[in-house]
This record gives sequence, structure tokens and C-alpha cells, in this order.
Amino acid sequence: MWYFIASVLKKEGTTMGPNNTYTIKKEAMRTLDAISEEYTLLLRDIHDLKAASGPKGWREEEAKELSEMVQRQLYKLQNPHDCKEARMLVVHLARACGFGCIVHKLAYNFILAIGLNRTLVLVKSDMPYHKEGWDAAFLPISRHCPYNSSRETDSIFNTTKKVLHIYENTRDIRLLPFMPRAIPEYLAPRLLRLHGQPFVWWVGQLVKYLMRPQPFLQEDFGVTEKWLGFKRPIVGIHIRRSDKIGYEADFHKVEEYMSHVELYYKHLRKHGPVDKKRIYLATDGRDVHAEMAKKFPEYEVISDKINTKLANEESRYTGPSLRSIIMDIHFLSMTDYLVCTFSSQVCRLAYELMQTQHPDASSWFHSLDDIYYFGEQIDHLQEVLVDHLPQTDAEIELKKGDIIKVAGNHWNGYSKGTNVRTEKKGLYPSFKVKEHKVVSEFVMNDTIRR
Ligand code: GDP
Repeated sequence: MWYFIASVLKKEGTTMGPNNTYTIKKEAMRTLDAISEEYTLLLRDIHDLKAASGPKGWREEEAKELSEMVQRQLYKLQNPHDCKEARMLVVHLARACGFGCIVHKLAYNFILAIGLNRTLVLVKSDMPYHKEGWDAAFLPISRHCPYNSSRETDSIFNTTKKVLHIYENTRDIRLLPFMPRAIPEYLAPRLLRLHGQPFVWWVGQLVKYLMRPQPFLQEDFGVTEKWLGFKRPIVGIHIRRSDKIGYEADFHKVEEYMSHVELYYKHLRKHGPVDKKRIYLATDGRDVHAEMAKKFPEYEVISDKINTKLANEESRYTGPSLRSIIMDIHFLSMTDYLVCTFSSQVCRLAYELMQTQHPDASSWFHSLDDIYYFGEQIDHLQEVLVDHLPQTDAEIELKKGDIIKVAGNHWNGYSKGTNVRTEKKGLYPSFKVKEHKVVSEFVMNDTIRR
């Protein structure tokens, strides 16, 4: 509703000023402020309701227990007693891509391995960021069965073969019931109660396991945190520029990102005093830091980009880009709120990792473009809560209980998608639907689960 009202007021309540600039009319501004205040108070009520929903601290305890259990199970699956006897899934990363893309490809194949009850194994030479492979920065995915480079292949549906190799994600694989966006059935009762986006929580646990830092990296996180003066409250901004713009994403001005940061701090001030408006800035854009400092001097901008003191640490990673992107993702994930474009895997990865640090941080973000998605996911489904009659030709009809394949959120109160019942595609009010959660049995065996 907030997105809807804000968007209408901004559109209908603007006048063209001198030099072709738009200004919001006083009346519209006053209404916007009043509704913004109401919205803030509603958020505070939701926050207080959450705090009152059960014995104090149950969420923290439940989140900790669930995470520890899953991490233990993943470790067991990945470290069979006898590697020769173990059932393995060897992943070949067919195409070099960015760091976020690699982690997500690994996570995708990890889900496949878990679903097939196999140990995930990598091919060392497939890691474009480092000749030492994944272990250059992170703990080995499997200590007992580190790498396998054999090129033999077979269908992943061959259940008798000990070692299977996977080269590409076929449609057959994508349609397996446990593949994204499913969550494991045995976790569902607890997870659905705990977290607003259970699938993101699940992916968060997988990437947390995959990205367990080597001791030197863990130390580097600590040293850098101190060096940066990383302090709360803090908003993480990821501004993706360079090769992405024009191909996979649109250009967004820094002002656009900052309007959401402003709103965050405005809301926060309703809860109590804010000592300083802080942001952690991650970007691959060349001039963004200077632009930010010039246009938003009242903000304390923290960024790993200007960390020259630790530049010689780079040698340990052999390649500045690897350290730099790991640091940026780590610190983005530690912020209190993310403003970014979910079209970038960098920000989606930070958002996933953020979920592993709090009982439920599923609403701690604003994406300027896509809604959260996982590459190769099957349809993202929503469930209709309230009937809807189309108000314009662009809108579609909804009936309570209908399932919608959502294509995207326009962030103006409307989403776009296809109603599975009518097969009609169009716009519908985002508040009339909720996420449809897919639960699937994983064949992880009992020994692992215990
Ligand atoms: P995507 O292309 O944005 O979806 O994400 P990928 O991670 O797959 O590829 C983008 C690559 O660009 C990253 O892996 C980094 O190497 C680089 N990059 C993009 N944004 C940043 C950033 O904020 N900080 C750093 N250090 N590198 C970035």
C-alpha cells in the first residue's frame, strides 16, 4: 500500500518547475509525509508484535539451533568416512563467471547433491578466481574428498553409480522436486514459523557452509572490521555498474539508492536517537565514491575500497578482485539494511548471508529492480489472498486461492505475473498475494540427519 500511495502521489502531485525539473506539490508532500509516518508506526507495531510472539529470545534460540543442526548435517554429508565408498556428485563449472555467480552455481549443485544424497565435489581447475581453487580463501567443501577431475560422465538419474559428473543444469534437473525454490520438508514446520522467506534462509545456510573462511580470511575480516570502524546502525549499499549496465540491468542514480537509505533512517529515528547516518558502500563503479562524498556529506561512508593499508594482504589471495569482492559481500551482509539491485548476484548473496546472522532479516532490503530470485529456479509462485477485479486493461483478475507465477514487482503497488487458473498475464496489486511456499522431501539419509 505504501508503494502504491507513494507512487500515485509522486506521479499525480508533481508540477513542472523551472529548467524542466519536477517538484512535488505541497499538498502531495504533506500527504506523503503523513502516510510515511503511519507506515513507520505500523512497522514499529509489527516489530513489537514479533517481540511479543513467544517467550523472550525464542527466535534467537530457534534460529541458532536450526542453523547449527543444518551446518552439522551438511558437514556430515560432505565428509563421508571413506571417500572411495562415498556416493559423489562432481560439479564441472562449465563457464567462467563472476564471484556471486560461482557461489550460486555451487549452491545450486549443492542442493542437487543433497537431494540425491551425494557428497558434492569440485573440479579444482574450474575456479577462475584462483589457481588453488575454492580452498584459496574458504575451507574445503569436503576435507575427505577434495577434488576429482575425471571427465567420465553419466546421467544424474543413474542411482547405482558411485561417482556422477554434472556439466550442465538440464530441464530434467530443474524440475526435480527438491530444486529451487523448494525447502526441505523436515525443516518446514520450524522454518515456516521462524522466517519470512524460508527458501532464502535455506540458501543462506548453503552459502554459509560453502563460504566458511580459512583462518587467515577470518582474521582479515576482524582486522578490516576494526580498520573500517564498522559500527551500527549501518545501511549497506551495493551499486552495480560497469559491464552489467545496459545488458542485464538499468542504470540507477545514486540519489535513487539514497532515497531509500534516507527513508530507513527516518523510520529508525522513530525508534530512538541515531548518532550518525552510516553506510557501507560497495561498488564496481569508478566515480561512485567521489559522487557520494560530494552529494551526501552528512553521511559517514565506510568502504573497503579505500583500505590501502591492507593492500599487501591481497597477495594471499593472488588477485585483488577476489579479496575485494569477498570483503564487500561480507560487510554488506553484516549491515542492518540493504539497498541494491537484486539483478546482481553480489547483493543477492549478501542478502542470503545476512539471513544467517539474524532470526529473520527477510524484509531488511530494498531492491531497485528485481525481486529476490535464484538462477535456474522453477516458477516463483504466489498465492492470492483477496479477490481482485481488473481496474484497467493491463490488470488481471484474481480469485482467492489462485496461484500466480510472478515475473516481477514494479515497486509501485503492482506486480506482474500469470494467473495459472486463467493463464492471463498482467498486473495485480502486490498486497493481495502472499508467497507460496514449496516444501519437498529431501532424501538425505537418517545418519546425516541425526
Ligand atoms: P553480477 O554480475 O552482478 O550478477 O554478480 P557476479 O558476482 O556474478 O559478477 C560481478 C563481479 O563484478 C563480481 O564478482 C566482482 O568481481 C565485480 N563486482 C561487482 N560489484 C562489486 C562490488 O561492489 N565490489 C567489488 N569488489 N567487486 C564487484
